[in-house]
Amino acid sequence: MPELPEVETVRRGLANRLQSFVIQEAEILRERAVASPGGATAFCRGLVGQTVGEWRRRGKYLIAQLLDPSTGEPSGSWGVHLRMTGQFQWHEEPTEPCQHTRARFWNAMEQELRFVDVRSFGEMWWVPQGTATESVITGLKRLGPEPFSEEFNACYLQKKLKGSTRSIKAALLDQSLVAGAGNIYADESLFAAGIAPQTPAGRLNRKQLEHVCDSLVHVLEISIGVGGTTFSDFRDLEGVNGNYGGQAAVYRRTGQPCLNCGTAIDRVKLAGRSTHWCPTCQS
Ligand code: ZN
Repeated sequence: MPELPEVETVRRGLANRLQSFVIQEAEILRERAVASPGGATAFCRGLVGQTVGEWRRRGKYLIAQLLDPSTGEPSGSWGVHLRMTGQFQWHEEPTEPCQHTRARFWNAMEQELRFVDVRSFGEMWWVPQGTATESVITGLKRLGPEPFSEEFNACYLQKKLKGSTRSIKAALLDQSLVAGAGNIYADESLFAAGIAPQTPAGRLNRKQLEHVCDSLVHVLEISIGVGGTTFSDFRDLEGVNGNYGGQAAVYRRTGQPCLNCGTAIDRVKLAGRSTHWCPTCQS
């Protein structure tokens, strides 16, 4: 599943490829790919004829500003969530779409941005100009601060986690606590912070929470720098797979020696997710 670094990698790819891309034609091949009111019809009507402006990321949501090509004024927004397997492809020349193609967007030069999604959980929204984005893309309302924002710090975590008995691993996966940190980065950052994933979140002191914040930001930055992870079948727009997998310290390394102390990496289930950790380095 794409996590924050992968989504950020996709955002950069879209920003790069779609500079002054005017949507000449749009086609939705599966109705449920569009989650905004009015479905595919309203979505296509909203997007066609508009210039794709800046792309921003909020948690794992991608949101493009649409612009009126004649005035350059904002004319709405285009939201995307990749969910499990959604990915964008850039096609310079006309090609036949594969069976998992859910949406296609062309410019006047017949260059195509294609949305392919094997599991079909990915969603897109059209938000009319003047409408609050969160009222259409309702999942945005539930998101906690971005890990890179000033709001996300030890003081914030201490306040939010006070008295909490759930594990710190479960807390980090909670998108309303911090947006965009998924399984891989929760495991990697807790290893980097030297904190056992099953530790009740409310029991961590200020110093430990500082380590959690710093480690999470650090592993996310590293991963964004290398273009996301190699886990699963993630590809960026140009079909390139990132390589954080080569650097994972604990994630999916069950039974292998800890890079730090040689202890076998252990796997436990927490919050329903496989959790990888070193019983010696993390306490
Ligand atoms: Zn270790």
